[in-house]
Amino acid sequence: MSTHFDFVVIGGGLVGAALARGIARENLRVCVLDEGDVAYRASRGNFALVWQQSKGINMPAYANWTRRSVELWPAYAEQLQNETNIDVALQQDGGFHLALSDAELERLVSIAERVNGQTGVNPYPYSVLNGDEIRRRLPGAGPDVVGGTYSPLDGHLNCLRLYRAMHRALIAAGVDYRPGNRVVRIDYTDSFSLSIEGGGQIKARHIALAAGLDNARLAPMVGLSAPVRPQRGNIIVTEKVAPFLKIPVQTVRQTDEGSVMIGDSQEESGLSEDINNGIMGVMARRAVRMFPAIADLNIVRMWACLRVLSPDGFPIYDHSVTHPGAFVATCHSGVTLAAVHAAVLAPHMAHGRLPPEAKSFSARRLHVSKTD
Ligand SMILES: Cc1cc2nc3c(=O)[nH]c(=O)nc-3n(C[C@H](O)[C@H](O)[C@H](O)COP(=O)(O)OP(=O)(O)OC[C@H]3O[C@@H](n4cnc5c(N)ncnc54)[C@H](O)[C@@H]3O)c2cc1C
Repeated sequence: MSTHFDFVVIGGGLVGAALARGIARENLRVCVLDEGDVAYRASRGNFALVWQQSKGINMPAYANWTRRSVELWPAYAEQLQNETNIDVALQQDGGFHLALSDAELERLVSIAERVNGQTGVNPYPYSVLNGDEIRRRLPGAGPDVVGGTYSPLDGHLNCLRLYRAMHRALIAAGVDYRPGNRVVRIDYTDSFSLSIEGGGQIKARHIALAAGLDNARLAPMVGLSAPVRPQRGNIIVTEKVAPFLKIPVQTVRQTDEGSVMIGDSQEESGLSEDINNGIMGVMARRAVRMFPAIADLNIVRMWACLRVLSPDGFPIYDHSVTHPGAFVATCHSGVTLAAVHAAVLAPHMAHGRLPPEAKSFSARRLHVSKTD
């Protein structure tokens, strides 16, 4: 087994897998060291939206970065299909945010206005619809829906197939994927030296930290900072039924295989992945008010999973000043951003730099004191 690589990506979640494949395209010898399923892993429990609406309040660069990824997604899905023969079932026919009260509708409208009103934002197209208009567009929607917002840029995919396709693409590209390899320590002399739990060392000229929540521990070892925290999300999955919801709603969607997925709460609960029955109940009741037919469906699975969240909720991409060649990448919308990670971020990292658009996402923005 080789112990020397041009580039090692630490973490094989959605972020690491997208980066590693993109870096390998630049003809580098790439290895992914991945702790595997025993680790906290946001990538195995997400809601699978490829989503633009509401992203980027107070950070126009994030709205634009998301837009870039949303637009790159069709080509990325096609590339995955060609490389792996797996169809990730990408649908970008638009998406809705639904309101169950006038106050909720006002809030949705205000969010859309705030994002799109910012200087420097490439505004996303959206429309505001009343309850009847929503029921015309989404025939299963119930009488409690008072309105909503719609953007034609939104969409979703099959998250399990995405993860499989991304990993199969790594193998097909000759990336050395090593699960069960937790990096415990990083040293630097003439190159990076990565110590693996249980013994063993791997050396690399460049590294990218894509270890999700563990980026917080690893980043300071190479002069970087990634103060991410866990935020729990609960998800409910029903039995499969005939298609009734073609266009996804931010919290309710029907998969290409017929299951209805209900998401997607946000709880500060430390590292606990326990299911919160109270929150599940609230999510289910809201979903039934939106689409009354859901009340008749059997729930087949529920889970809780931890998001990887920076203090302001935006991605962190950095290149170390003290340890040139060490990068960090973390974000809370790793499905949506997978396309831009693979097509834009990765090739720049392969050439030892970050793309100019990534400048706004340095963790240095988090170190400015509030009185400055
Ligand atoms: C409930 C929920 C719903 C979500 N819904 C959406 C959505 O609809 N759309 C969207 O775009 N995003 C969504 N997300 C977010 C998305 O899932 C994450 O942004 C993405 O999975 C983050 O990927 P990651 O690779 O950074 O982290 P992770 O998936 O956590 O992967 C980190 C990887 O690093 C490995 N690792 C950790 N430590 C080490 C170490 N020391 N050495 C080696 N390997 C290590 C782990 O084994 C793991 O494989 C959701 C997340 C949750 C929790």
